[in-house]
Amino acid sequence: MAKIVILGAGISGHVAASHLRRKLSKQHEVVVVSPNSNYQWIPSNIWVGIGRMKAEQILFPLEPLYKKKNIGFKQAKAVSFHPEGDKEVTKPYVMVEYVKGEDKNTFEKVTYDFLINATGPKLAFDMTEGLEPGKNKAYSVCTYGHAEHAWHGLKELIEEVKKGKKAKILIGTGHAKSTCQGAAFEYILNVEQELRRHDVREMVEITWIANEYQLGDFGMDGMLLSYGSNIMKSNEMIEMIFEDRGINWIIGAGVNKIEDGVAHYETLDGEYKTETYDFAMLIPAFSGHGFKAYDKEDKDITEKLFKGFMIVDADYTPRPYEEWTVQDWPETYQNPSYKNIFAPGIAFAPPHAISKPRVSKNGTAISPAPPRTGMPSGITAKLVAENIVDIINGKKTLNHKGSMGNMGAACIASAGFGMTKGSGVSITTYPIVPDYVKYPDTQGRKLGKTFGEIGLAGHWLKLTLHYAFIYKAKMKPFWWLIPE
Ligand SMILES: Cc1cc2nc3c(=O)[nH]c(=O)nc-3n(C[C@H](O)[C@H](O)[C@H](O)COP(=O)(O)OP(=O)(O)OC[C@H]3O[C@@H](n4cnc5c(N)ncnc54)[C@H](O)[C@@H]3O)c2cc1C
Repeated sequence: MAKIVILGAGISGHVAASHLRRKLSKQHEVVVVSPNSNYQWIPSNIWVGIGRMKAEQILFPLEPLYKKKNIGFKQAKAVSFHPEGDKEVTKPYVMVEYVKGEDKNTFEKVTYDFLINATGPKLAFDMTEGLEPGKNKAYSVCTYGHAEHAWHGLKELIEEVKKGKKAKILIGTGHAKSTCQGAAFEYILNVEQELRRHDVREMVEITWIANEYQLGDFGMDGMLLSYGSNIMKSNEMIEMIFEDRGINWIIGAGVNKIEDGVAHYETLDGEYKTETYDFAMLIPAFSGHGFKAYDKEDKDITEKLFKGFMIVDADYTPRPYEEWTVQDWPETYQNPSYKNIFAPGIAFAPPHAISKPRVSKNGTAISPAPPRTGMPSGITAKLVAENIVDIINGKKTLNHKGSMGNMGAACIASAGFGMTKGSGVSITTYPIVPDYVKYPDTQGRKLGKTFGEIGLAGHWLKLTLHYAFIYKAKMKPFWWLIPE
C-alpha cells in the first residue's frame, strides 16, 4: 500500500489527485493538503474582476468532493520538508500547519511514500513597496477574493465617472520581474469593454504598463504568428489591438513602488518615472514559498530541494542567454536528490527565463520571468501522477515525459463578456520554450501551431473552457476524457 501526499489543490494538485484516485485501487491512499477549502478556476477570475461572474461561479468546496471520491483532505499549509524523516519518525514526512477549525495553528507530521509539491507560486506583493491588493487604489485578480475586491474598486470608479469625473486606469505588471502578462492583458481588454458597456469609455484614459521589452512578449520572447493567411509578429498584433481600443502603453518598465494612486517605475534607459492612476491592477512578482528542508539529523538541506521553487530534472547550469537550449527544461519534474518527490505546475524551479534578460542602465533587471500557464500545469500534473502509478505497479523507469519545449500554450484572452457582444484574442504558441534548432526560421516556434485570432469565437471558446474545466474539476462522469 502506498500513500501519496499532494500539496496544493490548484490546477496541478487537483489534476494529480484526480488521476491518481482514478488509476489507483482503494488500498492506496491519496491525501491533499491545501490551505484554501475551495477549488478555483483561476482563468475566470478575469470575469469576476469586471463583475460579470460571481466568485461562487468559479469555485466549489473541495472537502465534500474529496470525501465522495475517497481522497483525504487536510485544510492546512506545508511549512517544512523532511524527506528522510527525523529521529522519531522513520518515514519521510512534510510538516503541515492547520489553518482552520479546532486544529487551527496545530502542526502534524504527514508521512508519505510519494510527495507531489503543487503549491504554485507565492504571490509576492511584498516585493513591491506599497503593492497590496486593495491598498493605494491598486488591485489584483490573482485569486477570486482579489478579483471580487478589484470589481468593487472598479465599480466605485465607474460610479464616480458617471457623475463627471475623468479617470485614469493602469493595468499590467507591478514588479520588474513579474510574469503572467497574459492575465493582465486579458483584464485590460475586459475593463476597456466594460467601460464601453457603461457608456463611460470616453472619460477614462487606459494605460498598459509592463516589464516587457516589446508588447506581446508575454514572457516568451514574443512570437511570430500565423494570422489568417498572413504572418505577424506578436508585438504588431498587440499594438494593433491597443491602437484599435485607444489603450496607451509603457513598456520596459520595472514598477518598484506604489503610493496612493501613483506607480513609480524605472525604465530600461535608467530613468525614474511615475504614472498616476485612479484604479490599477498590477500583477505582483511570483516567488517560491520559502520552504525549508531538513535531513533526519535535522540538518538544513534546503538547497537539495529548493532554488526558490523546487529543484527538478532541469539543467540549472548558469549560461548566457545565447547558450540556452530547450533541453534545459525538465521532463519528469522529479527531484534529483529524493526520487519520490515531484513538483509539477508552477511549483518547479525553471532553469532560466524564456524572454531575453534585460538590465536597465542602472543595473536593474527588467524583463518578465517565465510564464507557466494552466495547460502545462495540468499536463505536467497528469504525467507525474502516471509515473507514480507506474512505479507503484513495479515499473523502474519514468515513461511519461513532457517538457515546455514540446508543449503548447493557449492564451485565450476574452476581450469583453457577452454572448453576442463579447470578443476574444486567442494566441496559441507551440512550443512554449522556443526551439531554435527545430524551427530556426520562425523564431523557435512552429508556424500554423503558433497563431493568433481575434473575434467573438475566442470569447465563446473561453466560456466553453470555463464550463468544461469546472465539470472536469468536479470529477463528473467521464471527466478524464476532457484533455488537460
Ligand atoms: C488572473 C489569472 C488568469 C489566468 N488565465 C489563464 C488562462 O487563461 N489560461 C491559462 O492557461 N492559464 C491562465 N493563468 C495561469 C494559471 O492559472 C496557472 O498556470 C495555474 O493556476 C497554475 O497551477 P498550479 O496548480 O501550479 O498553481 P496554483 O493554481 O497557484 O495552485 C497552488 C495551490 O497550492 C496551494 N498552496 C499554497 N501554499 C501552500 C502550502 N504552503 N501548502 C499547501 N498548499 C499550498 C494554493 O492554495 C493552491 O491550491 C491565469 C492566472 C491568473 C492569475
